[in-house]
Amino acid sequence: MPAERLDHFMARANAAYYAGRDPFADFTTSPEISQVFGEVLGLWAAVTWIGLGKPTPVLLIEAGPGRGTLMADALRAIRQAVPDFAAALQVHLIETSPTLRAVQATRIPDASWHESLDSVPETPFVLLANEFLDALPIRQFVRRGQGWAERWVVDGVLEERPAKAGVAMEIWHDPAAPPQEGAIRELSEPALAFVRSVAERLARRPGAALILDYGPEHRMFGDSLQALAGGRPADPLAAPGTADLTAHVDFSALADAAVAAGAAAHGPVPQGIFLARLGLFQRANRLARNQSMTRAAAIMEAARRLGEPDMMGRLFKALALTGAGAAVPAGFEA
Ligand code: SAH
Repeated sequence: MPAERLDHFMARANAAYYAGRDPFADFTTSPEISQVFGEVLGLWAAVTWIGLGKPTPVLLIEAGPGRGTLMADALRAIRQAVPDFAAALQVHLIETSPTLRAVQATRIPDASWHESLDSVPETPFVLLANEFLDALPIRQFVRRGQGWAERWVVDGVLEERPAKAGVAMEIWHDPAAPPQEGAIRELSEPALAFVRSVAERLARRPGAALILDYGPEHRMFGDSLQALAGGRPADPLAAPGTADLTAHVDFSALADAAVAAGAAAHGPVPQGIFLARLGLFQRANRLARNQSMTRAAAIMEAARRLGEPDMMGRLFKALALTGAGAAVPAGFEA
């Protein structure tokens, strides 16, 4: 293989990975842990739609829907609790993997599919994205002397090359705490572009977006690229396409990009706090009622996995985007 910049390598590896056999054998995401996750997000979408003044029609968009579990759970809760939202909405899914599109079609047959947000009609919308941005390619820069080197992949090994002039402008650093020699900074251009295009839509149309993913609240230095294969950490650079490659989401960079593009950003709020505010544990309790002891315990354990700080409750965060000046969305109250 010729030398590839890290983001180009990651794009190629993940495209092969998500197009391959069922990727979800290798990792477990929140919607696959508990049905309550998608239900709560569906109700968030409904409450948000009501807050927007019930625009009709409205698009319920999901980016990176995986097996379609989140959307199927969300739609079931919406039909039950807010039937007028169910009647007003059209489902649009942003998914590049043909394999996963086919899986999604079995769960949500009347959806429309898109390669990117660009082809989604210009209509009021509520957008959900869970563990979507962490799968988008990152570039990595390494502090060398007074400048930055960039990481490339050559035959499964990282190699540093001088970063292109001007790129330092895109790399955040705090003037009060200059990066140490060897410090690593990550940049996901596709994640920033996605958030910018959502924000530009929000500047033109009523709408809201809810992004859930893992990463620190504030910008940090460090290498967060990781690979999972068969549920275990793997070498991210070996055998592209056989492991799921992800990286921390840079929430502060995304919030700044959204605001610069004319939207408002709310949060990030730790996932556990967000889900608890929206009634995760009450819903889980209700679901556990009239079940066998074993089943009830499993339902409550799954809810704890999503919400407890030492499990997914703290590392995962929720970030909401709305039009500038719109009301604070549910779960993001100070
Ligand atoms: N949201 C799901 C799946 C997360 S995995 C869940 O929580 O279970 C990431 C998802 O994003 C997969 O569906 C993958 O195929 C999709 N994806 C990855 N890169 C993409 C891209 N550039 N454009 C659209 N979808 C992408």
